[in-house]
Amino acid sequence: MFESLSDRLQGVFANLRGKGRLTEADINDAMRQIRLALLEADVNFKVVRDFVSAASARCMESEVLDSLTPAQNVVKVVLDELTRLLGEVNEGLGLSPNRVPNVIMLVGLQGSGKTTAAAKLAYLLKSQGRRPQLVACDVYRPAAADQLETLGGEVGVAVYRAPGTDPVAIARAGVQEAIDNLRDVVIVDTAGRLHVDDDMMAEAQGLKEAVEPDQILMVVDAMTGQDVVNVAAAFAERVDFDGVIMSKMDGDARGGGALSVRQATGKPIKFISSGERPDSLEAFHPDRMARRILG
Ligand code: GDP
Repeated sequence: MFESLSDRLQGVFANLRGKGRLTEADINDAMRQIRLALLEADVNFKVVRDFVSAASARCMESEVLDSLTPAQNVVKVVLDELTRLLGEVNEGLGLSPNRVPNVIMLVGLQGSGKTTAAAKLAYLLKSQGRRPQLVACDVYRPAAADQLETLGGEVGVAVYRAPGTDPVAIARAGVQEAIDNLRDVVIVDTAGRLHVDDDMMAEAQGLKEAVEPDQILMVVDAMTGQDVVNVAAAFAERVDFDGVIMSKMDGDARGGGALSVRQATGKPIKFISSGERPDSLEAFHPDRMARRILG
């Protein structure tokens, strides 16, 4: 992930370091290359435009151009702007302290990694001393409930599933199951579709109204690229969501989706998942990721 972008950026910085003093033309040239590198990483073009314009303005300031180490300061500006692009700080899960059980609802396209993320999130919360309850609300694919049951078994978290075709009834019963068993967080796994469609949105909306989630997290496959902007905008408009779980960060995606989603939707990336193991979900830290990208 991000490898090609990292290589490109490092090349730009190496070139600047070789120059000693920098002129405005040098900065312009570097910014052009950074712009191309971001576009090639499939970052949304508006996000790229804003990024380059902010970074460029800061690099033209005399503190950068006239400093003793201008190239180093350019790197610092790009690092800052990249951190800002990714959301500045980790926003935390944001559960409500006064509600038991809290309800977290996961939404996203089919195959995005929702079911896996549900189990991983349950595992993470369990390791923090919580008593989670998973609820399988994908009524179209029995295999999804089977998968959640298997994953729940692996991480030692109870999974509620029920026959029937009404996800709202299952979600309500799942919350009741959590109450009856003194569990304090309910994670509702919902059905996805291969593409955004009205039925999926209407169902997610219905579930939202029924269980009033404290957090709605959208699971996004990191391979998605800048199309994430359209998918996320559709979810934001119809169900709204509070944050993003970026899955499959261990893949060889160019990283455009991860770099675009915050700026394009205003919603923070809260967690990243980088593998199939239950413990491969971690809180997302923009500064660490930005540093990783710059190498
Ligand atoms: P859902 O349809 O949204 O519920 O997606 P699933 O949870 O079934 O995930 C789809 C596929 O992606 C499965 O084969 C998962 O094992 C895989 N997957 C999910 N998250 C990750 C991840 O972070 N890394 C990798 N390598 N694979 C993942």
